[in-house]
Amino acid sequence: MSSKWVYFFNEVDQAEKFVGGDWDAVRGLLGGKGANLAEMTRLRVPVPPGFTLTTEACNAYLAAGETFPEGMWEQELEALKAVESATGKKFGDTKNPLLVSCRSGGKFSMPGMMDTVLNIGLNDDTLEGMIKLTGDERFVYDLYRRLVQMFGSVVMGIPGEPFEEMITETRQKAKAKTDAELTADDWKKVTEKFKKIFKKHTNKDFPTDPYEQLKMSTEAVFKSWDGKRAIDYRNAAGIAHNLGTAVNIQTMIFGNMGNDSATGVAMTRNASTGEKHIEGDYLMNAQGEDVVAGIRLTKDIQELKKDLPKAYAEFEQICKKLEKHYRDMQDVEFTIEKSKLWMLQTRDGKRTAQSAVRIAVNMVEEGLITKEEAVLRVSPEQVDFFLHPQFDTETKKSAKNSGTMLATGLNVSPGAAVGMVAFDADLAESWAKDENKQVIMVRPETKPDDVHGMLAAEGILTSRGGRTSHAALVARQFGKPAVVGVSALEIDFGNRQMKVGEVVVKEGDWISIDGTDGEVYLGQLETMVPDIKDLWLLKLLSWADEFRRLGVWANADYPKDAERAREYGAEGIGLCRTEHMFFESERLPHIQKMILTDVQAERHDALEALLPYQREDFAGLFRAMDGLPVIIRLIDPPLHEFLPAPFDLMHELTDLKLRLQQASNTAEGDDLSKQIESKENLLKQAESLHETNPMLGLRGVRLGITIPELTTMQVRAIFEAACIVAKEGVDVKPEVMIPLTSHVNELKVQRGVLEAEAKKVMQEQGIEVDYKFGTMIEIPRAALTADQITEYAEFISFGTNDLTQTTYGISRDDAESGFLIDYIQKGILPNNPFATIDRDGVGQLMQIAVTKGRAKNPDLECGICGEHGGDPESILLCHELGLTYVSCSPFRVPIARLAAAHAALQGRMTKDQ
Ligand code: PEP
Ligand code: MG
Repeated sequence: MSSKWVYFFNEVDQAEKFVGGDWDAVRGLLGGKGANLAEMTRLRVPVPPGFTLTTEACNAYLAAGETFPEGMWEQELEALKAVESATGKKFGDTKNPLLVSCRSGGKFSMPGMMDTVLNIGLNDDTLEGMIKLTGDERFVYDLYRRLVQMFGSVVMGIPGEPFEEMITETRQKAKAKTDAELTADDWKKVTEKFKKIFKKHTNKDFPTDPYEQLKMSTEAVFKSWDGKRAIDYRNAAGIAHNLGTAVNIQTMIFGNMGNDSATGVAMTRNASTGEKHIEGDYLMNAQGEDVVAGIRLTKDIQELKKDLPKAYAEFEQICKKLEKHYRDMQDVEFTIEKSKLWMLQTRDGKRTAQSAVRIAVNMVEEGLITKEEAVLRVSPEQVDFFLHPQFDTETKKSAKNSGTMLATGLNVSPGAAVGMVAFDADLAESWAKDENKQVIMVRPETKPDDVHGMLAAEGILTSRGGRTSHAALVARQFGKPAVVGVSALEIDFGNRQMKVGEVVVKEGDWISIDGTDGEVYLGQLETMVPDIKDLWLLKLLSWADEFRRLGVWANADYPKDAERAREYGAEGIGLCRTEHMFFESERLPHIQKMILTDVQAERHDALEALLPYQREDFAGLFRAMDGLPVIIRLIDPPLHEFLPAPFDLMHELTDLKLRLQQASNTAEGDDLSKQIESKENLLKQAESLHETNPMLGLRGVRLGITIPELTTMQVRAIFEAACIVAKEGVDVKPEVMIPLTSHVNELKVQRGVLEAEAKKVMQEQGIEVDYKFGTMIEIPRAALTADQITEYAEFISFGTNDLTQTTYGISRDDAESGFLIDYIQKGILPNNPFATIDRDGVGQLMQIAVTKGRAKNPDLECGICGEHGGDPESILLCHELGLTYVSCSPFRVPIARLAAAHAALQGRMTKDQ
């Protein structure tokens, strides 16, 4: 630790030297705001002179039980002297007084969470000097009352109401509509009354000694690091509690010194669309807080060109300079005092997903950043934004302007949701399922018992909880938009309503929630799906494709899904689940017949009936994926899934039997008897197929071995389709995948039968097509024996859904609706292993399989087709393991393309370091 507690704004070089030249560490020492003020000073951008007390000073103060560390106060006074000489003003001077602000500023921005005191240095004597200097008594008294008010509430903890009430009373007496109409005399009286309020609440006089004001304000900012608001924010935002805040002491600049003064905020580009022009608001003759407080109608920054052309021209130049220096869009604050421009703050600007993409691409075109940086600047979640319904920025803006924004909370699960408020899970479920209503489930917080309601709802809103609350975890996991921790929300179950301030929302009323920004609106806001064909996004993704090593394929069962996948950039089909087609109404009776009959000929007929359907399905896929590989997986689920559940059959039977009693000896009775006979038969079969653990029973390759006619029919359909389509001139690349292999011999047996059929079809068709046979790796034993398996498999594909289930010995369906959330909340599992691959267990098995498989066949195609294939963190693992491709749902293909590029670029950067 250093004993240098204070850095003047022009001492950034020293700060860099002290921390070892790393800008992140400079931010750690001086806080984000202080570091940027110092950096702007170094860039010769006009910054009001000032200095920063380091975060180390704050930590030392708090550690010593709220005592300044040795030498700090003396250094602060020294630095103040330097500010005096830089400005030609003197702190506490009655003729030319220096006034300063005292602001917090941690390493990471925590908007509004810590404290600020302005106008320090004013008292009854310096006030006179200020009046003489400015010639504006009204202005100076306004400053003074602001100091008493801010110092009172921030430093002494006096509630805001008595001050606000006093201003309202004065306005009423003066018959003034706004503060602007109050006179010098009014503010003078208000200041005196504020001092009385101060005394009443603190039993002390307002400190008129400027040094005492400064000392107490510094302490208040240090202490605000440990204030409840700040601690809650850090918990929610995942910011470490030991960083401390820096304190910035800076010369006050006044934007309210007449019509040649102004103050405003701006973004160097449009934060919603990314367009390249300065966007912002300002007010003539006003103080900074007036712009943010929204009490006066602000002007568009473009008008400043006319109001103060010289200052605007300089401002525009500075914006360019800052963007060039920081190589990113900046969010700036400025003040113009008597035509002189001062920059008060700069930081990287927050932006929407659309804007992030466009800015990244434009900055490459402008030569500011590299393509690699552009790709790394956009997160996979931001690409996700383009694929889900969202509220349009304009819609939200007008909702805000019309006052229908109800409250804000934490944005824990992105997307837009519109629905009727339901205060409990059962109601949410019954409204959604039975009455087809759109529902937003609103609770103080959620519990495992609420999951059914959450799943049925469009979105979730809670008044309590943080980013790792039950509601947040479940919402993210199931892709439901959610806003949590909306503390302004009071839920009144008794009256089935909720309140925010005076606004009452009853159960059944419509609300709209924006999980992307954490906002809640009254009524039904219109949603829109942003366009994946956004030109900037397409360009960014094409750059991502240049950097990624992993292929990106898609899981698609139907030609229309395959077409979409291809449009989104998929380079193959990694999984077509053939059984999905069997569930269609015209096919189900055939598969049921195939299952139910013991007669060979009937089974043969049923399969013959299914063959043309499957052939058409596959032909469509091959056409859609012309020139690209298509992996078709043979039937996987246990057969009972194709039959009605015994429980339902029993119910139906009871019903039929009751009806028969009433209709015996009639024509209807005969018909009922027949129905009963057939249902009883069905029930017998369904019961005979019952397995205690179907997930580990007769399914996957075991099914193909037990009923080889079924998989043989599928292979025939695949190869007939491939041959037919190849004759049309399409480049077909079929890959036949056998599911759930655990022992090499299973593969040996099945492959023998199936390959013989494939060859037979090609002979019949008189054409040869290139194909591959391979298997899924879904069972630890298969992973561990991949060297044996790959003797009979030309490719392997990790079915990480099952591989996770079989590695953990956990049934996904049972876990996700049961104990899994509890496990995650208690920290027993770091996250949901069905969403993100468990590196240590499942990941290790994958690594063994790849290593052993490739030792046998260095060109072995290794892919993944479980849901993890679309998860960025899992994609990083797949990249590290050297997989050939990841396969995911068509909608996640763009996300996977970017995540695969991130994985490759991050790997490259770590190697470079
Ligand atoms: C898997 O297990 O990961 C897989 C893709 O197969 P399914 O989800 O169909 O069981
Ligand atoms: Mg599986």
